[in-house]
Amino acid sequence: MQGCAYVDGEFVAPEQAKISIFDWGFLHSDATYDVAHVWKGRFFRLDDHLDRFAASCRALRLDPGVSRERQREVMHECVRRAGLDDAYVELLCTRGRPAVGSRDPRTCTNRFMAFAIPFVWIADPEKQRRGVDLIVGSPHRIAPGSVDPRIKNYHWLDFVMGLFEAYERGGETVVLTDGTGHVAEGPGFNVFAVFGGPPTPRLVTPASGVLEGVSRRTAIEMAREAGWVVEERALGVDELRRADEVFLSSTGGGVIAVSHLDGQPIAGRGAGAFGPVTERLQARYWALHDDPRYVEAVRR
Ligand code: PLP
Repeated sequence: MQGCAYVDGEFVAPEQAKISIFDWGFLHSDATYDVAHVWKGRFFRLDDHLDRFAASCRALRLDPGVSRERQREVMHECVRRAGLDDAYVELLCTRGRPAVGSRDPRTCTNRFMAFAIPFVWIADPEKQRRGVDLIVGSPHRIAPGSVDPRIKNYHWLDFVMGLFEAYERGGETVVLTDGTGHVAEGPGFNVFAVFGGPPTPRLVTPASGVLEGVSRRTAIEMAREAGWVVEERALGVDELRRADEVFLSSTGGGVIAVSHLDGQPIAGRGAGAFGPVTERLQARYWALHDDPRYVEAVRR
């Protein structure tokens, strides 16, 4: 596998990147992480990812033991050593192991790791061209009162069970609800519903119970710059079904069109896979990858 990892202060091949089975990151999902991408040799919104990683670590009382500048350097170096132009770059911090015989998290030494591997898509470019078949899954997204979704976390059993359900029902990925009829998020993405079309579309995306995605923020900023209305509020599943367009936002592919919801075509996509709002945002999203305000070249 092409890639490079950073574990225990050393850069190693992906096959050598291993942790102890006694690390609570593995035993209890007691960890946080963040993922940035590199596109054509440049990181996109890297500072936003570093900010969110720092906030997640603080909220979980995890200390990566590595400065922000060192984290940035490690990410650059992983991509450089892997020789990748388009990459998925993850940094993570696990709780580590407690003192022998103890269950006190304060005795753990937290561990910082990172890796760069070839770009990972939520939906590959071919799937993106025809739009994704999204299923509303039965599991509820883990309650925000249990695990704060703004902290990027590995509590994914709800998503994984949802994915199995989606595949069984002929879909390609899944969106979960909060259990009271409101849309939450999916495995690796936020969700937007669009009502109406240019010049005056209205976009709605869930305000709470979700990770505040960097791509979600980008989509909101791009829409507002276009003069479009964006509402961050509770989004009912029934409302999602009536949307003219539905799209997903993710570091794993940017703005991704949904063509079907529970097997039913999305109303406003017309003859093509995309509605006009999704199409404009998708084009603009990739155009921002040439904008020096958002990108940082990989140090070769
Ligand atoms: N929601 C969840 C649960 C995620 O895991 C992710 C990304 O992995 C997102 C949303 C999208 O966040 P971002 O746009 O920062 O990739």
